[in-house]
Amino acid sequence: MAWKTLDDMAMAGKVVLVRVDINVPMEAGRVTDTTRIDKIRPTVEDIIARGGKVVLLAHFDRPKGKVVPEMSLAHVAGAVEKSLGRKVVFVSDCVGDAAAAAIANAGPGEVVLLENTRFHPGEEANDAGLAGRMAALGQVYVNDAFSAAHRAHASTEGLARLLPAAAGRLMEAELRALEAALGSPQRPVVAVVGGAKVSTKIELLANLVTKVDHLVIGGGMANTFLVAEGIEVGRSLAERDMAETAREIIRKAQGAGCAIHLPVDVVVAREFKAGAASEVVGVRDCPMDAMILDAGPKTVTAIEAVFAGCSTLIWNGPLGAFEIAPFDAATTAAARAAARLTKAGKLISVAGGGDTVAALNQAGAAGDFTFISTAGGAFLEWMEGKDLPGVAALMG
Ligand code: ADP
Ligand code: MG
Repeated sequence: MAWKTLDDMAMAGKVVLVRVDINVPMEAGRVTDTTRIDKIRPTVEDIIARGGKVVLLAHFDRPKGKVVPEMSLAHVAGAVEKSLGRKVVFVSDCVGDAAAAAIANAGPGEVVLLENTRFHPGEEANDAGLAGRMAALGQVYVNDAFSAAHRAHASTEGLARLLPAAAGRLMEAELRALEAALGSPQRPVVAVVGGAKVSTKIELLANLVTKVDHLVIGGGMANTFLVAEGIEVGRSLAERDMAETAREIIRKAQGAGCAIHLPVDVVVAREFKAGAASEVVGVRDCPMDAMILDAGPKTVTAIEAVFAGCSTLIWNGPLGAFEIAPFDAATTAAARAAARLTKAGKLISVAGGGDTVAALNQAGAAGDFTFISTAGGAFLEWMEGKDLPGVAALMG
């Protein structure tokens, strides 16, 4: 790997600026889910064990370059203190004399949390002056915010170019998992791409067909591919103006030796609501007044067979409208099959995407996947084959 880890850095007696993602959900001034905070603990503990002083840099929400009191990281400081089990000193600016003084005064094992980097317009503009003022506060930079790595901001990109830089433990785990899934994977590789629309995932599909051996297409976007093949889908969600794009992706896949798997049977209903009557029909038999809301059991069996013949799985997007039963059935069954194969040591499975992670959790399958990415946009941009500026800057 071209990027450095904590193991490569000398930290004893040094101030380590650590970019983290603690953009946690809050309700009525209280943090409702501390997962993101809990996940920075290994990096913080490791740096302290190596004799470094930890200074946390983070954004919170979207203040757009202005001081917005409701978006202050002061509201999160208590939760950070509790999760880390260490004293946290909060400073109301991420640069300047107050920050420098607080860092100098922090005792051994204490953590300094600096105010929302996005209170400065220079953060999102990746302003060199702001990055320089951040760099002046420490001697080493660690980026543990993979989920913010698709943005070239002062605290994610500019700063990494000014100090000796390394990936934190969380970033390291994410990069290793992604490398194992698409970088230099064990073949054959199958990708599952589902979700609502083709239009939001064109680049992702176009990149994947050049990299994987099998592409399973599900969800609403499969309907667009069916339309592209001349199959009627009734009142289903389908982007008919994307049919030519879908055909291009099919041609690209053929050229690259990637087998595309579309549904062979589907679950249809007249209404998308709990308890609506539904039936399984052949993929060519969707009634004109019905909607395709899930893949059928024959399709699931075919998907399981593809999984069984592959060594690596990468998954983004549910196979059906999983939020309402029974339209979660295909996603749940396929997720459990992947989980079983992974548990048996036969499959490396990586999944990401907001709804995907929710669906895999709902299926009780997420825990058995090799890696679940919670990075959202950064995960999708990586699946699209894009260079992530925050990662590129660590390459030195
Ligand atoms: P992710 O957040 O994991 O990237 P997407 O946002 O692309 O996933 O897709 C998830 C959405 O796709 C869900 O809201 C789901 O209901 C919807 N969806 C999946 N299949 C269908 C379908 N056949 N018809 C309508 N919506 C669908
Ligand atoms: Mg989504």
